[in-house]
Formats: sequence, structure tokens, C-alpha cells
Amino acid sequence: MKKPEAAYVHIPFCSQICYYCDFAKVVVAGQPVDAYLEALIDEWRGYTISNLKTLYIGGGTPTVLSPQQMKKLLSALTEVLSDTADMEITVEANPGDLSDEMISALADSPVNRVSVGVQTFDNRLLKKIGRNQTADEALSALTRLRAAGFENLTVDLIYGLPGQTLDDVIRDVAQFLALDLPHIALYGLILEDHTRFMQLERMGKLNLPTDDRAADMYEYIVSQLTAAGYGHYEISNFSKPGFESKHNLTYWDNAEYYGVGAGASGYVNGVRYKNHGPIQHYINSVDKRVTADTLTEHQKMEEELFLGLRKATGVSVATFDAKFSQSFSAVYGDVVDKLAKTDLVSYDGQILRLTERGFELGNEVFAEFLLDT
Ligand code: SF4
Repeated sequence: MKKPEAAYVHIPFCSQICYYCDFAKVVVAGQPVDAYLEALIDEWRGYTISNLKTLYIGGGTPTVLSPQQMKKLLSALTEVLSDTADMEITVEANPGDLSDEMISALADSPVNRVSVGVQTFDNRLLKKIGRNQTADEALSALTRLRAAGFENLTVDLIYGLPGQTLDDVIRDVAQFLALDLPHIALYGLILEDHTRFMQLERMGKLNLPTDDRAADMYEYIVSQLTAAGYGHYEISNFSKPGFESKHNLTYWDNAEYYGVGAGASGYVNGVRYKNHGPIQHYINSVDKRVTADTLTEHQKMEEELFLGLRKATGVSVATFDAKFSQSFSAVYGDVVDKLAKTDLVSYDGQILRLTERGFELGNEVFAEFLLDT
């Protein structure tokens, strides 16, 4: 069986907890970080990985590690790889953690892409969402990353924040465009359970923009990014040509990948698995996996659609037919006929893709592709 060509490594520590975040993470203070890294490196070595196209180190916040811990981690992850020269190797970073020493640790390793969690360039809003960084720190980090030789830089921006106006969004977009970076991931704020924002919302204290106002923000951002030459290549992602995230395209192509670390998910040999989330459980467990599900063919088909439709290139009927025992038209012909009458998808008999409006209302479309399992 073909081995996965992508790997995700999870560092579940953060210096603070953002008010909107439901990722697998804990505050780093007091955590057994070194023991965690040892356990993670053991898990990594257990896969006997030697060839990858992409490696993504995310979190949490990987740059909350000390520069020495980061060097040790990067060295252990990459020493087993036969050739890192053509790989995409990404590290997620918090602007406030990017000291010159941390940037040197990244620049002296095979890491060649850095994803910086900017979220907004507005200090008032940064405070409101629980980020412990300033806009100046983000701008300084990006400047120093470039000076250290990193060209492939991406930032995350969030819109629809509490108290955010369209004018605030216009300023964020102008600041992003002035930086002339090759890639951006754009997210509308989603209220998740067990977050401080959800608590505030339940108390009626959040003051979110209305859905219409959030839609105006989204449409404004998309129009500005596309006018500036960024391709909207995935629902949440925009890039200059050639800077699409190879790692994330692995997910959207429904290809397999290793997931390593506490709370990480992976997909290997047809099995979707999830590791123990609590740090001590992860460190102490021999088998790191807490769930491991072999997907049925119907589940694989659904995922092919859910993930593939996130891309501007859409879902290829020929690829679907080659992967599965039933043809695309036999499984989804009726659904596609129905959706083709809306302005949410386009279909030419070979490729099914979401329209710009479909990108905005993706979940409505995805629900149509659920099958009886
Ligand atoms: S958004 Fe990122 S930095 Fe903030 S708590 Fe979540 S994982 Fe940590």
C-alpha cells in the first residue's frame, strides 16, 4: 500500500487561550513540554517515515517552544527524511513568539514556510479576542522572517469579530495588501462550544456583527484579494500563483497523511484515527490512538465530495470513478442535477465545483452529498 506523503505534527501548547478557540491546546505554563516532545518523537519514529512531500507543524502554537526545543524537534523530525529539498515544511507561529533566536532556529532548519497567526492588525480587536500580541509585533515578525530568507509566508485573518465594523475590515485588508505576502487564510468567526466567546454570547454580551454585515465583510475581502491577484483556490485560502499550500491540498485531495502528537488526527491505510488529547494520557499511552475507524466506501465518497468541493478546481468525475466501485453519476447524478439548477455549483459533466456563492454557502451544498452509510 502506498505510504502517505504528508504529515501533520501537533504542538498543543499556547501562551494564552484565545476567546474563540476550540482547538486541542493547553496553556504552556507548568506543562511537561520536554516529556511531551520525547513522546511525540517516539511516535514519529514509530512510523518509519522516510519520504514526504509536506510536513506541517501546527498547534496550539509551535513557536511557544523555546528555540532549543524547536531545534531539537525539527532535527528529530527531519533527520529521518531522505530529502527535504523539495518538500514544503510549514511551522505555525505566533507573532509575539518570533524572537530573533526563534527565527534563526527556523531559518537554520529545512523549514521553508511560516504561517503567522495575525488574525487582525487592530490592537483593540486583538485585545477583545484574547490575543497577547500587537499589530506592530506582527509586522515586525513578518519583516524579520523575510529578512531571514522566508518568502513563502502566510497569515491568518479573521472577520466578523465582536465590535468589528466594515471600516475595520477595510483597514485590515489594506494592511495585508501593503505587505504583498503570497498567501492568506481567511476565516469568519465561528462560535464554538466551550469557548469564552460562547459563554459571552449566552450572556448576551458579545456584540457580533449581523450575518448580513459579516457577509458584506466576506464579499469585500474576497473582491479586494482577487482584484490584487490572489487566486481563491480553496474556500478559506487565497494565494499568488505557485504559493498554494501543498500540505492543505493533501487534505482536500482526500489523500492520506500521518497525524502525530496529542489530539492529532491522521489518515493511514484507509483508517482515520485520532490520538489521545490530554497531554499526560498521550505521554503515558503505548498506543497513542484513542479512535481508529476504517471508512466505508460511502464515507470515503462523502469525504471525496466534502473535501474536493472546498477547492476551486472542484471534484473530478474521472478521479472519482477511478477511486470507487460505483460511478459518480450512479451515486450523485440526481443530487448534481438538483444542485445544477441553483447558483451554488457548476458542472460540465467532468468537473463539479462550487461557484463563488457556493463557497460562501458551502455547508448547504455539502449536506446534499451525505449518503446512507
Ligand atoms: S487560536 Fe491558536 S494561539 Fe489562540 S488558543 Fe487557539 S491554538 Fe492557541
